[in-house]
Amino acid sequence: MSGDSNVIHIRNLTRQYRMGENVVRALDGVDVDVLPGDFVVVVGSSGSGKSTLMHILGLLDTPTSGVYQISGGDAASGGDRVQSRLRNQHIGFVFQQFNLLSDLTVVENIALPLAYSGVPRRERQEKARAMATRLGLGDRCHHRPTELSGGQMQRVAIARALINDPDILLADEPTGNLDSTTSGEIMDILYELHGQGHTIIMVSHDPDLALQGTRCVTIQDGKIVKEEKGRRTRAPEAEGWHNEREEEAHGELSTMDLLRIGVQEGLMTHGMRTFLTMLGIIIGVSSVIAMSSFSLGSKQKQMDQIRALGANLVRIVDRRLENERLTQARMEGSFGLSRKDLEALRQNSDTIAHASCSRGIKLNVLHRGRALSPRVIGIWGDYLAVNNLAVETGRFLDATDAAENSKLAVLGHGVAEELRVEEPLGETLLLGGVYYTVVGVLADKGIALEELEATSVADPNNDILIPLDTLIARTTHLEMRSEVDELQLQLTSEDFLYQAGRVVKRVLGVTHAGVEDYDMIIPMDLLKQKQQSQRLLDILTACISSISIIVGGIGIMNIMLASVTERIREIGIRRAIGATRFDILRQFLAESVIIAVTGGVFGVLLSLAVVALTCQALDLPVVFSIPLICIAVLASTATGLIFGLYPASQAANRNPVEALRYE
Ligand code: ADP
Repeated sequence: MSGDSNVIHIRNLTRQYRMGENVVRALDGVDVDVLPGDFVVVVGSSGSGKSTLMHILGLLDTPTSGVYQISGGDAASGGDRVQSRLRNQHIGFVFQQFNLLSDLTVVENIALPLAYSGVPRRERQEKARAMATRLGLGDRCHHRPTELSGGQMQRVAIARALINDPDILLADEPTGNLDSTTSGEIMDILYELHGQGHTIIMVSHDPDLALQGTRCVTIQDGKIVKEEKGRRTRAPEAEGWHNEREEEAHGELSTMDLLRIGVQEGLMTHGMRTFLTMLGIIIGVSSVIAMSSFSLGSKQKQMDQIRALGANLVRIVDRRLENERLTQARMEGSFGLSRKDLEALRQNSDTIAHASCSRGIKLNVLHRGRALSPRVIGIWGDYLAVNNLAVETGRFLDATDAAENSKLAVLGHGVAEELRVEEPLGETLLLGGVYYTVVGVLADKGIALEELEATSVADPNNDILIPLDTLIARTTHLEMRSEVDELQLQLTSEDFLYQAGRVVKRVLGVTHAGVEDYDMIIPMDLLKQKQQSQRLLDILTACISSISIIVGGIGIMNIMLASVTERIREIGIRRAIGATRFDILRQFLAESVIIAVTGGVFGVLLSLAVVALTCQALDLPVVFSIPLICIAVLASTATGLIFGLYPASQAANRNPVEALRYE
């Protein structure tokens, strides 16, 4: 017999359950044909297989063998997508336990199947409201199921089953949980729907209802044992009834709806729990960003400071040989560092912008009888320019002062303050028993030198500068000593540091007759080396901070697993009204990703605040690495996805029948 004109065509359908060694034949070779406009009442004692049949008819369960066609098409052959679409568009399910979603209003419950067929929200609500009114629920639209009576709940369930204008209405003991008056009302609705052309299959164990349909089918031990004609006649075919399933425009659950379900029904219902889970990610992300910002900030500060002193600086420092080694060096033809070296370097390199030399001397320093302890340095050349120094008041030492061996001094800012006089200019200082007059004071560089320890830079604030010639004139007794302690070269650019280093080696190799009696120090280079050695520490810190993101991810997984268990029944209901496995997967995945992304964004905001405040307090520059912020947010998103995948797949793979039975 052809099944083309039938709504349902079933042949030799079996469903077996394996219980250890035993096989339970819940359905054992069932043949049924349901024509458009039929009202089939299925009766039978408890355990006879009625629910199993209904679940298979509703595509919530798969038969072990046999033929099942809906509107001429093989219902079993399609994958989850096709079957879910059939459930959504062609089958309306009404359950004994109503199976409404308690967090949704009446209208939202009724509109739910439309969401899974991609109908826009406004249209959904309009249709649902109209359907609610049709079923006498017009004044209950915004109530929640818990605020309704049993009869009203079943009306909502019927409205939901009808909203997509299905070909078949499956009702599994729809009046089983209702008192007799309410049962009568619900049955009247079903009769009316039948009268309007709906095809209905209803399970009932109320003997009074058995013959109220067009046909009554009795099941016993998984077999149809009796078929009787009912009192009702087949309804005229419903207008909307057609077989053109393939041509339907069928959308999907929109991303907006997915997010709405995730936020409203998932996360908001357990606000505190969601927040605590999110906290793991917030802490992880903010600590990664904050740690890296502090590290970048302090590096930046060191760089800035060294630039303030002169990033292009090359220092050549005398080794201060003594005794035999000094005699040896002199005999080999090296006379130590001298102004001649500086001239030679200038002639051999065009990358030197400024050059100077200096020589320190240990002297007792007295001001108005009070001892001070600055460094006294004799300087020659462009000392100010080389060291990026500026004169605050008075003037600097010039060539005339050098030529005249003048006893003049320029004070570092700190030394000038130590004099405790209002006007340091014109003050006299006793340096090693000789009076010097203060002609200038240097501006404060404001440099925290402890941070630059590794670069061997001294604090210019604590210096007294005098002309080199004046100093040399006073120390003739040390004849073998090098003329100066140090040469300073300021290059035209930071890029020439290495090139200049080679020139220095070559030129001084000649002037010092190959004797290595000097060291070359490039402060910028030293700082970079130091910062390089800190990288390992940075990486380690980043790893530790990342671990907290992973811990946050585990928190998400934990909470999502709990959420899936709590919502098993909801999963069953959603599947029954047409959600695909993928829809369920997306729904739970969306929740975990929303937690993770929101946590990531809050983490970034928190780190911005913490870094801004802390850097201000620690006087560090505020440095954010934009790529790192992006990576942190991406990492938290990935965490949500990865750790959400397992709970979401657990939800998606739930058997709908078992999910619906879950208490
Ligand atoms: P009814 O709805 O008529 O009360 P069911 O269709 O629920 O009957 O059950 C038919 C038979 O199949 C019963 O013997 C029942 O124990 C068995 N059965 C139903 N579901 C399962 C299952 N998941 N596992 C094992 N046996 C089952």
